[in-house]
Amino acid sequence: SRVLLTGASGFIASHVLELLLQRGYSVRFTVRSEEKAQRLLEAHKQYKDKLDYVLVKDIAQPGAFDEAVKSDPPFTGILNVASPFHLNVTDPKTELIDPAVNGTLGILGATKAFASTVRRIVITSSSAAIVDPNKPNNGAGYTYTENDWNPITLEEGLLNPSNGYRASKKLAEKAAWDFVEQERPNFDIATINPPLVLGPVKPYVSSLSSLNTSNERVLDFIQGKAKNGAPPSGVYIWVDVRDLALSHILALENLEAGGKRFFITEGYFSNQKIIDVIRENFPQFVAGLPEEDQPNGGYPQGLYKADNSRSKQLLGLTYRGLGVSVTDLVKSLVELGAGR
Ligand code: NDP
Repeated sequence: SRVLLTGASGFIASHVLELLLQRGYSVRFTVRSEEKAQRLLEAHKQYKDKLDYVLVKDIAQPGAFDEAVKSDPPFTGILNVASPFHLNVTDPKTELIDPAVNGTLGILGATKAFASTVRRIVITSSSAAIVDPNKPNNGAGYTYTENDWNPITLEEGLLNPSNGYRASKKLAEKAAWDFVEQERPNFDIATINPPLVLGPVKPYVSSLSSLNTSNERVLDFIQGKAKNGAPPSGVYIWVDVRDLALSHILALENLEAGGKRFFITEGYFSNQKIIDVIRENFPQFVAGLPEEDQPNGGYPQGLYKADNSRSKQLLGLTYRGLGVSVTDLVKSLVELGAGR
């Protein structure tokens, strides 16, 4: 069958694209530039009869997806992964929140108007739409599930870039569920809610000078930028990008996944645990690692739990461990030239 994938030049979507092609899908992808499109076509030239693209330069613009969703043969599913994830912004509203919300509503609206064959849209949301970072004592004693919503508001989202990112994900996902409830389209939706995503980068979409946000800390560590002490981890749950990519496809294929959110996380990590993996596996980077270990494995004294059982039971997902994920990430960074 034939599907549309948005933001295919991104860290996560590049893995989704590869898996879709391996599983026999015919795929149209969207990217922002001709150059990015050509790199993806070149990387997947063995699939050239099953791969095409449409440029969508800015998902925030009205009608951005109106042409992309029209296809013959038509689409049965859509994976909406595109959304800004960077924290170097001056205006969280126009740079993060508007593209996230308008992009999500844009693809839902375009599908309802122009692509009546689509049965499901899988949306990459985030644990930022679930976890409340302001719970006292890091939420100790509390277990988050798909029933939880981060209470962050638009107003709080305007305060700084990281609030802006969290609000962008929460408000975009909320807008998607509201759309389905109010507009009653022919399709249903499923949302994928991962925390920090780590894992190998694809050389045809990534570079050391503009590495995706969630892998940046690992590049910093191997470049010696945390030699005087690693910063606090900020988030303490994570998932490998390959498991996350697969969860998107399973949520597209599994009938019962419709109308559901999926909290996709392997479990806990800390910056200290990442550093331990690098120290064990990459002697060439040890000199640049922090000299002192963080207390308590880098974890705060109290910490919430995250329930990933729906992803295992309903999707049948299994999770890679932190060691293999960080090791494969660092290898991919070395291939891009890190350490040279
Ligand atoms: P990337 O930055 O690698 O990917 C983001 C993608 O969205 C890029 O292809 C980017 O295009 C595209 N994009 C961003 N803004 C626009 C815009 N205004 N118009 C058109 N395209 C746009 O990040 P990830 O792969 O990590 O993120 C992918 C998704 O996963 C996002 O929805 C993100 O919120 C979500 N997510 C990521 C997590 C993580 O830890 N990585 C955790 C939880 C959720 P370009 O590169 O050309 O700018």
